[in-house]
Amino acid sequence: MTQTECSCEVPEKGAGAIFCKRHECDKSRRMVQLCQMGARGEEPGLGYWRAWEEGGGPRQKQSEPGVVRKAASYTKAVAKHAASGFKKRSPEEIERIYTTICEPCEFYNPEEGGCRVCGCRVGRGKRALFNKIAMASQHCPKGKW
Ligand code: SF4
Repeated sequence: MTQTECSCEVPEKGAGAIFCKRHECDKSRRMVQLCQMGARGEEPGLGYWRAWEEGGGPRQKQSEPGVVRKAASYTKAVAKHAASGFKKRSPEEIERIYTTICEPCEFYNPEEGGCRVCGCRVGRGKRALFNKIAMASQHCPKGKW
C-alpha cells in the first residue's frame, strides 16, 4: 500500500529500472517500493520519499552551488558572524551538530567537507572562519540545526 504520493508503477521482479518523472531519476523495483513506504533504513524520520522530494535521494543529481554562489554564501555567513561579535558555538556543540546532524545528512558532501545546499564548509573544526557550524549566528539552510 502506498503511504506517500508516489504514483510510479512498481516494476515486475527482474524488470529493469523505471524512470520516475516526479523525481527525475531511474528507480529500481526496490527503490520504488522504498519511495512508496517513505522509510529509510536506520535513519528514522528521514524517509526516502522526503529525500527524493528534496532532490537528495539516491540517483538524483545534486545540483551543488557553483563557486560564485559558494563565495557569496560564505561572505554572507562571515559578515553575520562579525555582526554577532564573532560568537562561537562550544566545541561540544560543534561536535554534536557535526556528528549527529551534518555527517549523516543527505546533503553533506564528505569529499569537500561541505554542505551541498549552501556550499559552506561544515565539520568539527573549532575555527569559525573555516566551519559554518562553529559560527553561533549560523544555522542549517534546511532548518536541521
Ligand atoms: S548544514 Fe544542514 S543541509 Fe547542510 S549538511 Fe548540514 S544538516 Fe545537511
